[in-house]
Amino acid sequence: MIESPLLEHVQGFINGDWAQAQSGQTLAVINPATGETLSKVPLMGHDETRLAVESAQSALAQPAPIEQRRQWLNQVADLHIEHKKELGRIITLENGKPWKEAQAEAEYAAGFYRYCATHIEKLKTRHLQEQPKNHTWTVHHRPAGVVGLITPWNFPLAMIAKKLSAALAADCPSVIKPAEKTPLSMVALFSLLDQVGLAAGKVNLVMGHADQIGRVLCEHPAVRTISFTGSTRVGRLLIAATAPHVKKLSLELGGNAPFVVFDDADLDRAAEHLIQNKFRGAGQTCVCTNRVYIQRSAAAAFIEKVAARVSGLKVGNGMEDGVDIGPLIDRGAVQRVATLVDDALTQGATRVAGKAWSAADDGCFFPPTVLRGVTDEMPCTREEIFGPVLPVIEFEDEQDAVRRSNGTEYGLAAYVFTADPKRAERVAGMLQFGHVGLNTGAGPTPEAPFGGMKQSGFGREGGTEGLFEFTEPQAIACA
Ligand code: ADP
Repeated sequence: MIESPLLEHVQGFINGDWAQAQSGQTLAVINPATGETLSKVPLMGHDETRLAVESAQSALAQPAPIEQRRQWLNQVADLHIEHKKELGRIITLENGKPWKEAQAEAEYAAGFYRYCATHIEKLKTRHLQEQPKNHTWTVHHRPAGVVGLITPWNFPLAMIAKKLSAALAADCPSVIKPAEKTPLSMVALFSLLDQVGLAAGKVNLVMGHADQIGRVLCEHPAVRTISFTGSTRVGRLLIAATAPHVKKLSLELGGNAPFVVFDDADLDRAAEHLIQNKFRGAGQTCVCTNRVYIQRSAAAAFIEKVAARVSGLKVGNGMEDGVDIGPLIDRGAVQRVATLVDDALTQGATRVAGKAWSAADDGCFFPPTVLRGVTDEMPCTREEIFGPVLPVIEFEDEQDAVRRSNGTEYGLAAYVFTADPKRAERVAGMLQFGHVGLNTGAGPTPEAPFGGMKQSGFGREGGTEGLFEFTEPQAIACA
């Protein structure tokens, strides 16, 4: 079992108090590296979610001035930094990612609160210079109402930071539902939020039956916005369930990121960035490369550089020093990735780095793998892999690279490497992806808007755009 000063109460949080499930039932949280049960969290459902929404609704009646919200946001950011080692340890234990990476996640999460604190004055009332209809006009950014925040397990702390920072900035009370696999990071966060002095009901935590919690958030009239990060499948369910209630949704769904390398690119730099981009979180991030396109004339040299680097990566328990890649989230995830690799090999791809995964020897650890001779038709390029596997595909020219990169229903992140700045700019303009890296594998940052095009979703997190995500503009004309 896990012991931590941040996990004194392993419970939900409703109306300013720690809360158990009314049924008394619990859900086990498992360490994917060891199979050990870390803790048991309350298995909540309809009833607790309704209470959480009602308490959030009553917190709406206690608006906080902008300066107060700025102070809260800065405090939350400071607490992340102060406790980053312990927050990181909890993330590693329940998610599997290396501890260093988990601490970087805590810093990344802090950045969202800090950004919102720094820029919160953008939410101040705006007075129009013009006086249309002979009236004076003001624009107010009102809190949208209670917000439901639903997050996945791959960034247990950062995904909520992207949403909660904007909700606190907009003065929206929230009901938070973490993923079943990684609720402890959120419980730890709440033990810190409990020190900040937020009004009762401003932040609420429920966990357990996803369908029941989701249904209340979709149907309760007080909930005006749901912000969700997760699968396209659940995103579609939420769209359908909220349609009768006409709620605002912010959805960050699946990705299928292309990493395009032209033959004039610095191949060492491209290989280095590819490794950093791809293997973060063992390849279980929505912005990590899903398919590599290398221009045919540079393919052999590039694949050799990538394979050499991949062969040097260390797989193991994320709490051990020097580990680059932790376990996947569970056995099901590993089995799915193994099937994608097997399908590709059967259909003619070749493994140039990595060994075959064995259920008996490797458990939840999947060997980092590079496949060449992959085609756009294989499941590993059409589906989101969510594992440490790099399929490499060769392309002919710029037009071919753009067409194939865009040949997916997803549009979250893409990366392009070329020595020609004009080409970089031209290609970026043609790519239908919300985030593009030019000669870098860098992903999102708190200062820039991030979100998807096409079926990767809508709405933005981070940047000025994200700051407005939970606000409703109200125009007041005064005679
Ligand atoms: P993943 O495949 O990454 O686990 P999911 O979309 O299944 O992605 O899960 C992301 C989040 O959505 C998790 O917190 C999960 O519990 C939640 N979730 C799953 N099903 C539903 C649902 N029907 N309504 C609301 N949330 C859901």
